[in-house]
Amino acid sequence: SVPAAILSALSVAARGGVLFKGGAALETLAKVETFAFDKTGTLTTGKQEIVDIHCEGDEALFLARLAGIEAQSEHPIATAIRQHVAARGIVPLPVREARAVPGEGMVAVDDEGVIWAGNARLAQRMGARAAETLALPAVLENAPRTLVLLGRGAKILGGVTCEDRPRDSTPAGLAALRAGGVGQIAMLTGDRRAVAERIGAELGIGADEIHADLRPEDKVKIVADLTARGRVAFVGDGVNDAAALARADVGIAMGVAGSEVALQAADVALLADDISRLSEAHRLAGRTARIIR
Ligand code: ADP
Ligand code: MG
Repeated sequence: SVPAAILSALSVAARGGVLFKGGAALETLAKVETFAFDKTGTLTTGKQEIVDIHCEGDEALFLARLAGIEAQSEHPIATAIRQHVAARGIVPLPVREARAVPGEGMVAVDDEGVIWAGNARLAQRMGARAAETLALPAVLENAPRTLVLLGRGAKILGGVTCEDRPRDSTPAGLAALRAGGVGQIAMLTGDRRAVAERIGAELGIGADEIHADLRPEDKVKIVADLTARGRVAFVGDGVNDAAALARADVGIAMGVAGSEVALQAADVALLADDISRLSEAHRLAGRTARIIR
């Protein structure tokens, strides 16, 4: 039977918005030494602002195409693009056969053929080389912002950059984890390194603890590598994170907006989008472990 101290700790945690799937997850959390975080939507708000737009020809037509394909995606980037385009009164052009390429973007078909939206990795997959098909300004290529390219087959039609900010609660949440004895804090992201390092610098996460340009399967590999140094908790918001959540010693799904798959893969659900709740749960787990030992 489950010790009374654990049952009581589970209910205290639940009142603080941290739902454990069972006592074992609480006991494992007490031993966690590394917290690995997804970036977009976990450390950051996930509410992206469009900063730069660059395309060949008519910008409204470009945005109508981009929003048309992003209408088929649930990614926070897609939401931002749709909202920006709608606010400008531009009507998205419909696409069909849309499919997500996890960690890269979207591919679909419209009246003129194959159309795609995503990062440089997707561009490469589609046979496009930015320099050959469209001279992207340096501000798009090198800015520490997320770059979304729109392409037709091997041709790049244009790109937009977007950025989001750390959640207000993130710095204090990370500080509390460190104060509570967590040895290592790592960032795992599918975004490009320049963006990850900009956010990392704001949060005191060093470049050597930042893993960028990851596909979902790369996140699983990094989580596995980190377990060589001790127990690992992975915290993700859901989009594309289910496998990493499952691989971690403790998978923590954040936000009620987190996907159903993520909640299934996780051991813990964090109801509020506030990681300071994590350090409270980590300390509670530690105290409980000392009581029952
Ligand atoms: P993360 O949450 O770590 O940023 P994701 O795996 O969700 O990771 O996404 C990784 C990258 O894939 C994004 O930074 C973006 O460049 C690209 N991407 C994913 N989905 C889309 C989309 N719908 N539109 C454009 N780019 C996308
Ligand atoms: Mg994410």
